[in-house]
Amino acid sequence: MKPWSKAVATALVILAVGSFPKVRVLADENSKTKLNEVVAQIQTLEEVKTENERLVETRINEIETIGQAVSVFQDRVRFLAEEKAAVDERMVLLDELKPSNLLQAAVLTIARAYTVLEEAERTALIHGELDVYGTYENQYLHQDTYREIEEALLLKRAEIEENILQVEALMNTEMGKKEQYTNEVTEAQRVSEETNVTLTALSVEKITLEDQIEKEEAVRKSTTFIWPTSGRFTSPFGYRIHPISRTRRMHTGIDIANSSGTNIAASQNGKVIFTGYQGSYGKLIVIRHANGMETAYAHLSRISVSVGDTVTQGQSIGKMGSTGGSTGSHLHFEIRKNGTAVNPMSYLK
Ligand SMILES: [Zn+2]
Repeated sequence: MKPWSKAVATALVILAVGSFPKVRVLADENSKTKLNEVVAQIQTLEEVKTENERLVETRINEIETIGQAVSVFQDRVRFLAEEKAAVDERMVLLDELKPSNLLQAAVLTIARAYTVLEEAERTALIHGELDVYGTYENQYLHQDTYREIEEALLLKRAEIEENILQVEALMNTEMGKKEQYTNEVTEAQRVSEETNVTLTALSVEKITLEDQIEKEEAVRKSTTFIWPTSGRFTSPFGYRIHPISRTRRMHTGIDIANSSGTNIAASQNGKVIFTGYQGSYGKLIVIRHANGMETAYAHLSRISVSVGDTVTQGQSIGKMGSTGGSTGSHLHFEIRKNGTAVNPMSYLK
């Protein structure tokens, strides 16, 4: 690489990290999006289910109330039918007592008997019938009363019939509602069953996705490098004039400046292989990763892991400081491949 192209590359690197990413571990965005969709679907379906259950409960209560009302109406119809039968009975009785009927009966009796009876017997029969008529004569004179009673009974009968029709109409309305509610309950229960089947499938999908995300995160945490801290990018990897010695020297890592005490996180899953003070590095942590990779975190104010510790990507391992050869609080971060420092910018996510 020619010197000028190197400078351009460095400038590009600095530009590229202008907006410094936060330390975070992302699973495959696809799986996460899918999981969010599944979770939203589950929530929607749970709401549908709850609404359905509420409707079923309401309708079942209403159906019970209707059942009670219909039972009352049925009692009422039965009672009215009995009343009507009683009126009919009274009308039959009244009919038998009609003066015109009495006269007709008497005349018929006499007419039937007349041809077969002797003179004296005929006379006796006529006198007998006249006596019977005499008994009811008083009532015969009150024919109007009979008419009044008859009219009253007819009116009463019509009233009862009207009443029966009204009660039956009300009952039919209630029965119609009952049928509608029963259909609604059946439909809601069918939807609930379907919802349950879908919910079961979705919860299986959710678990599968969660497992997948977990696996993806595990792979990511052991194969990618993340920014170990947040702050200003103050020095790139490569040759530079050293800030203390003022000589041109190789800078084996990158510098990120922030206030003392800023959190430092492990860049990738690994095992701590060194902690302690080491010359110009000051307080230093070195972590070994897979595939011959190592990361180093220098100038720390505090080390919170020990040699032999297994650390996961993003786990806090210490605090930023200015120990060793340092002019201010910053992290000197190195990535080493098979023992040789490489440009961290080629690895950082
Ligand atoms: Zn440095």
